[in-house]
Amino acid sequence: MPAAILDGSKIAAEIRSEVAAEVKALSAAGMRPGLAVVLVGNNPASEIYVRGKVKSSGEVGLYSEQHTPSDRATTQQLLDLIADLNRRDEIDGILVQLPLPPHVDSKKVLLAVDPAKDVDGFHPMNVGFLSTQRPGLVPCTPAGVMEMLERSEIRIAGQEAVIVGRSDIVGKPMAMLLLNANATVTVCHSKTRDLPGVCRRADILVAAIGRAGMITKDFVRPGATVIDVGMNRVTDAQEFERLFAGNSKREETFRNKGSVLVGDVHPQVAKVAGAITPVPGGVGPLTIAMLMSNTVKAAKMRRGTRVPELART
Ligand code: NDP
Repeated sequence: MPAAILDGSKIAAEIRSEVAAEVKALSAAGMRPGLAVVLVGNNPASEIYVRGKVKSSGEVGLYSEQHTPSDRATTQQLLDLIADLNRRDEIDGILVQLPLPPHVDSKKVLLAVDPAKDVDGFHPMNVGFLSTQRPGLVPCTPAGVMEMLERSEIRIAGQEAVIVGRSDIVGKPMAMLLLNANATVTVCHSKTRDLPGVCRRADILVAAIGRAGMITKDFVRPGATVIDVGMNRVTDAQEFERLFAGNSKREETFRNKGSVLVGDVHPQVAKVAGAITPVPGGVGPLTIAMLMSNTVKAAKMRRGTRVPELART
């Protein structure tokens, strides 16, 4: 039986409409949540991501503003900008789009963001809150994966969860969230011995690697839930064949565009998994929805008792 498809676009739309209702209630009480996005330089991929975030903010009714310092901006200039955003009461969330230019001290800039406004959840204080199960802001992509699992009624407690990838942005917070939800968690990386064997233990397998179609059928226990975080653009014809031979829809896209988007999971895995996220349309849309949700969460946490009853959850 083919795997159930976990529709990230549909779940993201649900989350956005819940967030929109909260934004409406907060705005009616004179507390419209605000998001500031900082985009340094002209990285085309970053520009696309930021455009999506600003558009989505508008759709749910958030106030948003964009700051676009040039790629010659110094670390100090960025620190001054962050300090100003930290001070402004109408700004609830600050997002610094990564990567920053190589001459900028990224760690220093991220550390300067007020943890209460750190909607990406990257500040060490929020990392600590997550690992000690205190309320805080959680990185958007792994938070989105949890929403996907919970809203799809996939059992987590007591299950074996294997995560491939240990980045600060995805793998590590993902591990912490699954552990906090009582899964038995294994985190794999490039030095893991017998990766396919370890992955086959998983009831829930999360791939966050950055390698097109690396997780093949022999990594997956039949019936497992497979979450594909990867987003890779394939332009090589041979690589395309390995992944999508016989898929006429993808062949047409490849012919027309010269590239296709593929996750870290090989499409054939859908034949053995119990449930699987598609790429595109899986984890990606949830990441932006969770950014919206985090901005509202930051607003509510920062404004505390001033929040109207309707928006207090
Ligand atoms: P990183 O490059 O920071 O981390 C990749 C991880 O994969 C590392 O821990 C690395 O191990 C591990 N890895 C690499 N090669 C192998 C291998 N051959 N075997 C086992 N492990 C391996 O990536 P990110 O976590 O930032 O992103 C991962 C993927 O998710 C990317 O495709 C990215 O585009 C995508 N992404 C998608 C998002 C979305 O919204 N859908 C959001 C964020 C990321 P080691 O530590 O040993 O080097």
